[in-house]
Amino acid sequence: MRTALLQGSTEQFEIRKIICIGRNYADHAKEMNAEVPKAPVFFLKPPTAIIGNGGTIIIPPISDDLHHEVEMTFLLGKGGRNIAPADAMEYVAGYGIGLDMTLRDVQAEAKKKGLPWTLAKGFDTSAPLSSFVPAATVPDPHALNVMLAVNGTIRQQSSTRNFIFKIDTLISYISQFITLEPGDIFFTGTPEGVARAVSGDKLEATLSSSTGKTLAALSIQVR
Ligand code: MG
Repeated sequence: MRTALLQGSTEQFEIRKIICIGRNYADHAKEMNAEVPKAPVFFLKPPTAIIGNGGTIIIPPISDDLHHEVEMTFLLGKGGRNIAPADAMEYVAGYGIGLDMTLRDVQAEAKKKGLPWTLAKGFDTSAPLSSFVPAATVPDPHALNVMLAVNGTIRQQSSTRNFIFKIDTLISYISQFITLEPGDIFFTGTPEGVARAVSGDKLEATLSSSTGKTLAALSIQVR
């Protein structure tokens, strides 16, 4: 899947970069024994990592510790450089839900050796991604609920109000260094509760409004 779908629209966005924010919830930084960052921490996944709703995550044989990280995502409808925080929200076309699947053992080894996270974070099927609810229909993207259930049991649940860095800050900060383009997707970081997922698990993620209305959903199998 290389095209982002905006709900209720025929407009299609070819997916370009996937920009993932690390440690954007204080409770997750704590569970990882990591410091709360002073500036956004980010890394990239290749667009080839994406699978859509109903897809299957394939665990690479190099890992024995696949972890789920449920995250709100957003899609850029236009690009730019040096975007001011006050203008940044105009660049967002829609909001969705995604899973930043992580080979925790491979990542831990990379951290220890000071090596990049690319393999741990960018392997094929590591970026399950829902369709996007149009930004114009979301009054406050910092008041949405993010939830992940594994085999019917809730594992991760939080609100985007708990972001350390808000959407305008993320767009503005990153656009100082990396040109943003329409079709770029952001993963906004995971709340606490990351844990192992094993072959046979069913992962169900939702983004919902403050009144509980489902805005975007994802159902994924692990093989
Ligand atoms: Mg993550």
